[in-house]
Amino acid sequence: MLHSLFLKRCVDKNNDIYMATCAHCGCAMVAEIQKGKYIYYHCTGNRGKCPEKYTREEVIDQQYSESLRRIELDNEVVEWIVKVMNSSTAEEREQKQAQAEALNLQKQRIEARLEKMYLDRLDGLLVEDEYKKLSNKFRNDLSDIKSSIDRINAQNEANIIDARRILELAQKAATLYSAQIPEEKRKLLSTVCSNSNWGSGELTANFNQPFDMIAITNDEYKEKKATFPEKNDLFEIWRPRDDESDNWEISLNFSKLN
Ligand SMILES: [Zn+2]
Repeated sequence: MLHSLFLKRCVDKNNDIYMATCAHCGCAMVAEIQKGKYIYYHCTGNRGKCPEKYTREEVIDQQYSESLRRIELDNEVVEWIVKVMNSSTAEEREQKQAQAEALNLQKQRIEARLEKMYLDRLDGLLVEDEYKKLSNKFRNDLSDIKSSIDRINAQNEANIIDARRILELAQKAATLYSAQIPEEKRKLLSTVCSNSNWGSGELTANFNQPFDMIAITNDEYKEKKATFPEKNDLFEIWRPRDDESDNWEISLNFSKLN
């Protein structure tokens, strides 16, 4: 079974599970079957002779698996982040509601004005040209306001659900990965990283957003946790910093998983 899967993959050149770029020359790493059963990855060497050695698939697999541990989050970390996000979302929700109410008032005012203008025109208090000019302007204002209201309503709970899915995926990625068949491994890897490098037998996984930020913060968190296990503000490392325009909360909110 495994054997035939491997063979099938090797026949189909586009089906390399482990996408990586050779760190020496920037060519792609490709799979090749040897002795009828072993899969080796090697640089295509399309830019000339390359020093990168052939590597058994299992070695690359193992290194990907280890890389995914970088984004494996402690349960307490996930709980803490979700709690912080929920409270900031509640605050945000109130602000948005106030904005939507103000816009609704404006909308009603313009609608009343349009209605009055219509009556004025019927009563001969407003000439046709003037009516057309003014009513066009107010109708445009009205469309702007309506689309602002729609936008506010759309930025909602969906964001926090996405964030939660991302955190859960990060948390379980390494475990999921080990348990999956090659095709599923490939899908998981392409969600989490891209353009990873392979050089001198070593993988440098390049995480996609927001997993890149999760990886960096998690490295820092684990180091801090190992050095100061008693410290009680360890989670603060995960708090979004206001001075960073691309802090994790924004990234988590706006990234969408496929
Ligand atoms: Zn190469």
